[in-house]
Formats: sequence, C-alpha cells, structure tokens
Amino acid sequence: MSDYYEALELSKGASQEEIKKAYRKSALKYHPDRNQGDKEAEKKFKEISEAYEVLGDEKKRQIYDQYGADALKGAGMGGGGEHGGFSSMEEALRTFMNAFGGGGGSGGSGGGESIFDSFFGFDQQGSDDSGREGASKKMNLSISFEEAMSGVEKEVVLNNYAACSKCDGSGAATANGVKKCTRCKGSGQIHQSRGFFTMSSVCPQCHGKGKTITDPCSDCHGNGRVKKKQQIKIKVPPGVDTGMRLRMSGYGDAGEAGGPAGDLYVFISVEPHSVFQREGDDISVELPLSFSEAALGCKKELPTAHQGSCRISIPEGTQSGKVLRVKGEGSYNVHGRGKGDMLVKIIVETPVGLNDKQKELLEQFAELEKEQNSPRKRSFFDKIKVFFSK
Ligand SMILES: [Zn+2]
Ligand SMILES: [Zn+2]
Repeated sequence: MSDYYEALELSKGASQEEIKKAYRKSALKYHPDRNQGDKEAEKKFKEISEAYEVLGDEKKRQIYDQYGADALKGAGMGGGGEHGGFSSMEEALRTFMNAFGGGGGSGGSGGGESIFDSFFGFDQQGSDDSGREGASKKMNLSISFEEAMSGVEKEVVLNNYAACSKCDGSGAATANGVKKCTRCKGSGQIHQSRGFFTMSSVCPQCHGKGKTITDPCSDCHGNGRVKKKQQIKIKVPPGVDTGMRLRMSGYGDAGEAGGPAGDLYVFISVEPHSVFQREGDDISVELPLSFSEAALGCKKELPTAHQGSCRISIPEGTQSGKVLRVKGEGSYNVHGRGKGDMLVKIIVETPVGLNDKQKELLEQFAELEKEQNSPRKRSFFDKIKVFFSK
C-alpha cells in the first residue's frame, strides 16, 4: 500500500471535508459498477477506500501520521489483508456505503435494489454553494432483438423533480426573499474545533444550502423544485446489448435551489431471439443439415439479423460443428466501429424414423463404405489400438 495521502491526492494537512470530497471524486470514478471487470480500477477502488477508512477517521489518522500503516493492524482495519489493508471488494464497498450510502431501499421501491440507488442517489452535501445537485435516477429498458440491431427511439415518462417555473428554481416568491444563511455565512458548512482537529458538518440552520428563504414561493414551498411528469425520447444506438447502460446527462432530478440536475441511467436488456444469438459483435445461428446434405454439399438461404437474407454454400463433406463466417452480417458495434460477422454453426442431424426402403439403401451404402470416408474415425481407432495390443 502506497501513501494514503498520495492515494487520495491530498496534502498532509487536508481537512475532513477535503478528504471526503477527494474520496467521493475518486470513488465515483473507480467504482466497480462503473468499471465492470476492470482489474486496475478494482485495485484502485480498494486502495482509495482503504486510505479513506484511515484518513476519514481522525483517531486512525493520528496513529497513521505518527506510526504508519502497520500500527493500524488489528485496530479495526480490514479483515485479512497482508498489511492490515483491504483484501476484498466487500470491505471497500462497506467503506463507500458508510461514507455516502443511504442504507438503500429508501426510494420507496421496497428495498432489495442494487447499490445503484444509494450510489447515485446519495446526498451530495455542500459540494459548492450554488445549491445541491439533484439525484440521479435509473430505469430499466427492455427492447427486442431487432430494435437492438437497428437502433430505436423509445418514449418514456419520467416523474422527476423539475425546477419550479413560478420562482425559476430560486424557492423565493420575490427577489428579496432569499438571504444568505447567518449561521454558516453561505458556505453550508459549520466548523467546530475539538482538541487537535476541526470537524465540519452540515449547517443545521440552512441544511447545507447556504441560504434561507424568508419569503417562500407558494408553488414549491421554498424547495425551488416540484415533481413533474415529463415525456422524453431515449435514443438507443444500434448494437446495444443486455447489461449496457446509457447515461442521459441532466435527466435526473433538478438540483435544489438552482443546483445542477442529476443524470438518468438507462439499463438495457435485449429480449432473446428465436434463432439468432449475440456473441459480442458477431451474431451466431445454428444451421441443421441432413446427413446427405452435409455429405454432398448444398446451398441454403438464411435470414440475416438486419432483416435481409444471404445465400451460403455448404461444401461437400462438411462436418458437424463447422462454423461458416458471413462477413459484415453481424451486429453494429455500439461504439461505431463497424459491424461483426454472422457465424453459421453447422449441425449434422443423424436421420431418424427411416422406412424399410431407406434402411435397405443405407445398408447397401454401409457395405460400400471405405476407411477414407471417415478420416476422423480411422484416426481415433488407430490411436486406441495401442491400448488393446498391450
Ligand atoms: Zn417555486
Ligand atoms: Zn447555513
């Protein structure tokens, strides 16, 4: 573990407010929900969370400043890390939740939601004095396979907090109805000295807004925002797949007292198709062939994922499991990097329900079969011969 201050890009004399701010900034950047499968981000997230666990607690910070990280072993630092540090993501996430989480499920959806609700919905206290940023929202959007291929525009209705139109978001009925908070002098924070260090907390008089409304607006009662239904269009680009997330900047709740709006996160799920399957930017399809078609070769017309069709030639002697590639008939790459291919997987079907005539012909065929008609079979039996010769 490198230096905790370095990890959070802080100087030694940083205040608790600065430490929390620095941790929030880095944690949002490296959070595993935003960097799925990124090992480097995972490591970084653990590192900064460990640093915050110590620096965010004045008692631990004093020990660390005087004696270093080793001195914190067993002082409630982590579970099994080599240096008493964070070995697991659970620990790091717990630190994150303790710092910013709202306990989850507070959005009235009955709990059981993922970390996102508290992650994106957390209270952003005192980020600056121009009012608090609105909460970000998430929604699920299910689209068909065809819509994912071509891209689609979907209309949805949001029920967000929007800036109050009567007072323009100020919360006050008149221009003179807003006064700078007398207790915190507009910063939204109050500082108290305790022993060696200073504690910062949200100003209890203005609740972090830095101002008080002396003449509240009658529509929003001083909040500066009201719930509003709003119909919007979500532009889904071609090539999206299940698990992808679209971020719509500014489509979350409006901020309080004129603060910036949060974002809307749209989680995509694509309904499965009856014949096509996604494999990254490639589209795969299974093509069953009869034994004689595979043996003699044939031509087949297949639909493509883009509502067209293509004709493919299956050469004689094609084996089951063989994959034929049709260039450029896959999915669009969602980042605009061209198109994938269509992968046609051949399945040779052994004939069933044969009548007497067919059986008779197959028996005649079997009599004429030679070793070189089945090279794989011959090779296999050549290999296992040695086991019987011992
Ligand atoms: Zn208003
Ligand atoms: Zn105040």
